[in-house]
Amino acid sequence: VRGLYAALVHHPVRDRSGATITTAITNLDVHDLARTSRTFDLDGFFVVTPVLAQRQIAEAILHHWRDGGPGQARVPERTVALARCAVVDSVEEACAAIADRHGAAPRRVATAARALPGVAVTPFDQAARRMAEPGAPWLVLFGTGHGLTDPLIEGADLLLPPVRPGDYNHLSVRAAAAIILDRLHPREG
Ligand code: SAM
Repeated sequence: VRGLYAALVHHPVRDRSGATITTAITNLDVHDLARTSRTFDLDGFFVVTPVLAQRQIAEAILHHWRDGGPGQARVPERTVALARCAVVDSVEEACAAIADRHGAAPRRVATAARALPGVAVTPFDQAARRMAEPGAPWLVLFGTGHGLTDPLIEGADLLLPPVRPGDYNHLSVRAAAAIILDRLHPREG
């Protein structure tokens, strides 16, 4: 067990103006991040939303594709991907679930397409080396909307650099998660 987890955060995230909002879960994000997390053998993937009705939607997606739902019969490999997915109401609840399992709270890794003034970034190779060392587990936070809020990023143990910083930095969270988890994955050979 690597002790590595990911979270798709729907609150607290920013809107275009920088205000804190809650975004809606999209089916595509849940499936894609579950498949990417499974591909890189993460120990779990959390869908985070404080909205009960949204958690029910996510649970319905999970039920359809696992726990004997119709999707499981048709696409069993999707069941494998979603098997490690859990729906929680907050980043804190995800951290508590990880702490229960590992006996230590996870260190949080923030991601963003933007640089935050005054917040140092840890290069991907340095982060990958630190995260590969034995110790407390890690939780990589991916945002939605216009990204994770400043307090959530400032409260993290590490902030990763933007992927390909430039004047256009709006990868989908699906694409960003795949690139980032690949860069954090221990290099074979
Ligand atoms: N403008 C937003 C920001 O500054 O993060 C990008 C929002 S994007 C739809 C949602 C999430 O995808 C971000 O919270 C981040 O986790 C990830 N993301 C998107 N583009 C990224 C990039 N270039 N580098 C790192 N993460 C990125």
